Amino acid sequence: MSSIDSNISYIRFFYQQLELWPVVNQRFSDLHTQCKTKELPTGHSRLSVQFNPARIQSAKAKTDTQSIQKRPCFLCDANRPNEQMHQDLEHDYRLLVNPFPILPIHFTIAAKHHQPQSIFQEFTSYQNMLNQFSELIVFYNGPRCGASAPDHLHFQAGSKGYVPIEKYWNTDYEPFLQYIRQKDDLHTMSEKPSHYGIFLLSNFPTPVFVIRTHKYIDASPLFHTLYRALPSGPSPSEEPMINILGWQKENGEQIILVFPRSKHRPDVYFRDDDSRMSVSPGAIDMGGLIITINQEDFDRITPQTAHDILSEVGIGKKETQETIEKIHGREYQLPEQEPVIEVGILSHNVISFTLNETYHFGNQEIIGEQSVAFTDGKLLWNGKVYPKIELIPEHEGDFTLPEVMIGIQFHWQKKETQTFKGGITLLPDNGQVVLVNRVKTETYLSSVICSEMNSTSPIEFLKASAIISRSWILAQKLHKNKKTTSAGVCGYTNDKEIIRWYEQSEHQLFDVCADDHCQRYQGTRRITSNNSLKAVTETRGEVLIFDHDICDARFSKCCGGVREEYRYCWDELHIPYFTSHQDKIPAIAGNLSDEKEAKKWIESSPECFCNTQDRDLLHRILNQYDHRTKDFFRWQVTIPQKELSRRIKKETGIDFGKIIDLVPVERGPGGHLSRIKVTGTHCTKIIGKELEIRRILSKTHLYSSAFIVEKGEEENGIPQSFTLRGAGWGHGVGMCQIGAAVMGKKGYDYKEILKHYYPNTTIKKLY
Ligand SMILES: [Zn+2]
Ligand SMILES: [Zn+2]
Ligand SMILES: [Zn+2]
Repeated sequence: MSSIDSNISYIRFFYQQLELWPVVNQRFSDLHTQCKTKELPTGHSRLSVQFNPARIQSAKAKTDTQSIQKRPCFLCDANRPNEQMHQDLEHDYRLLVNPFPILPIHFTIAAKHHQPQSIFQEFTSYQNMLNQFSELIVFYNGPRCGASAPDHLHFQAGSKGYVPIEKYWNTDYEPFLQYIRQKDDLHTMSEKPSHYGIFLLSNFPTPVFVIRTHKYIDASPLFHTLYRALPSGPSPSEEPMINILGWQKENGEQIILVFPRSKHRPDVYFRDDDSRMSVSPGAIDMGGLIITINQEDFDRITPQTAHDILSEVGIGKKETQETIEKIHGREYQLPEQEPVIEVGILSHNVISFTLNETYHFGNQEIIGEQSVAFTDGKLLWNGKVYPKIELIPEHEGDFTLPEVMIGIQFHWQKKETQTFKGGITLLPDNGQVVLVNRVKTETYLSSVICSEMNSTSPIEFLKASAIISRSWILAQKLHKNKKTTSAGVCGYTNDKEIIRWYEQSEHQLFDVCADDHCQRYQGTRRITSNNSLKAVTETRGEVLIFDHDICDARFSKCCGGVREEYRYCWDELHIPYFTSHQDKIPAIAGNLSDEKEAKKWIESSPECFCNTQDRDLLHRILNQYDHRTKDFFRWQVTIPQKELSRRIKKETGIDFGKIIDLVPVERGPGGHLSRIKVTGTHCTKIIGKELEIRRILSKTHLYSSAFIVEKGEEENGIPQSFTLRGAGWGHGVGMCQIGAAVMGKKGYDYKEILKHYYPNTTIKKLY
């Protein structure tokens, strides 16, 4: 009856259950003998209808709160029939055979604990189920969209090939998807739209939003964007009305259909004349397989009525358009005046500081030494308790922090008196007082550039760096709380692979911290009148723009000759200004993905901007550069077996045993490895992406992941060491600092430098 491999454990479970539960076994047999199905071809789509008398329970289910409260929950362990078996799944779910089937194989996947039907937090589990049940479709009925147990969180899974939208997907629907531009994802829109993302399907009787993703890509940011954009639920506490139906293709790609709903049931359901029809659509009906519980309805339903029912319970054109607009996001309002930046300076249980000019606190004028302490979730200042203290300077503002450790996280151990301009906000947080400096963008930037950049560097390079730094800080402020990508450690781990990348996390209480985590900011004492300051003032208000938004202007120390593409280091996004190009003019697109090409390239010393012997220039550009720093345009390290195996075990938490081989699996066109296969005597795994490879192979991080591997002498088949020969320093995406400095020295101006490293962007003066 099914082409699915009966060795799959959930299929075995399915047949075991049928053997032990005759009533349900009979219902599954009835599906083939008694439940008739007929096709309902309409203009564009092929719908169908199934006569299924056993579904009467579900179609007539009373799902109002009172009725639900009165009945025992049939998905809770305690109330399920004795015959009903279950299989435990990950994340506290239980697999149950659905006793009222629509599909030849039909499961209910119920949460172990009784909790309301709600998808927002559970989307990741849903996506996992698509992979776990890759032979089936997996679907979700929202609380007022066909779920007969809205009080108990559950999904369903069933045979592929029966629901028309899935059955005819490849030919009738997928080719007609319209990509919806997503604001934070707009970089993917240049020439060709992203393959993965949110799409609209409009050649179906009801509008369908489609998330196309891959089992290895966490689609929850996309889903959450869509969820927030949908028409709101019937009440503020309820989720938007939706059905979800999805499946995984053989290549791991996942199709997730989201059917927004305007109605629980169509009008015909409530009629009391002959035109009444007991159709109560859930995900399967929305996907085009309409279930009727009586013969009359089955006989008289026409393609047109089926079409009308779906479009009636779905959302209209206006709501669809509004949803799309919300997904796009309103255009970010670029600032037209110099914004004030909120910088988290430090946190401590007591903070003392001196106001060197008059500040206002309500009607009071304050000056001189102050001390604020944390007390009971609030702030204690001059004997009074406040939830928050905001001090507004009379003029520019001027205050001093005596001998404090610099940086909010204190990993940078240094005591120093610091002076700041601007306003002060004090907040209680986590048992401590947090001091936030409200400072004008250009003042902040002058301090950052003066303390981070050597002012004897070429001036055009300093200007390019000032614009990058300004773009970063303003983007940070502009995009705050609007990110749809994840933060912190991202990626996935399974039995074959460990793939990780790192995204900077956002601060909640302020825009940026004063530490290296964001940009090091040490107050106004750092601002000295030199070339660094000149670079800031001469580029006042200028930022890097792509498609009406401020760019993510990433940079690294040395690209090694070819810049890398963004997606080999971070998320799978195509960003048109982070493409792979050689570091010379004219720049030719890089193509070092091929192992042989990469080897040839790394073993050579090609002419490019960052291939420089100018030691004096290097000294000026790189903070960390000293005499111990070896060459990094081309470098070599040898790692002894013992150190390597210990290191890998420590970083992955997995004992690989002795390391037998390190094999490149995937390289970006810039030559940087994004996946490497680590073969040990105990286990073998693929590790990625770029930074994870560097981190796992060396305590001090390898200079880059653009390397080739040579095995050292072997003892009993175990190499005693590995020699890595590599190119460049850092991820290689965006501006190559060394290359840019050389360009500056060679007489290119900052506009040419930025155009070279961030193609397709423009420079815009905001204020
Ligand atoms: Zn329950
Ligand atoms: Zn920070
Ligand atoms: Zn370079």
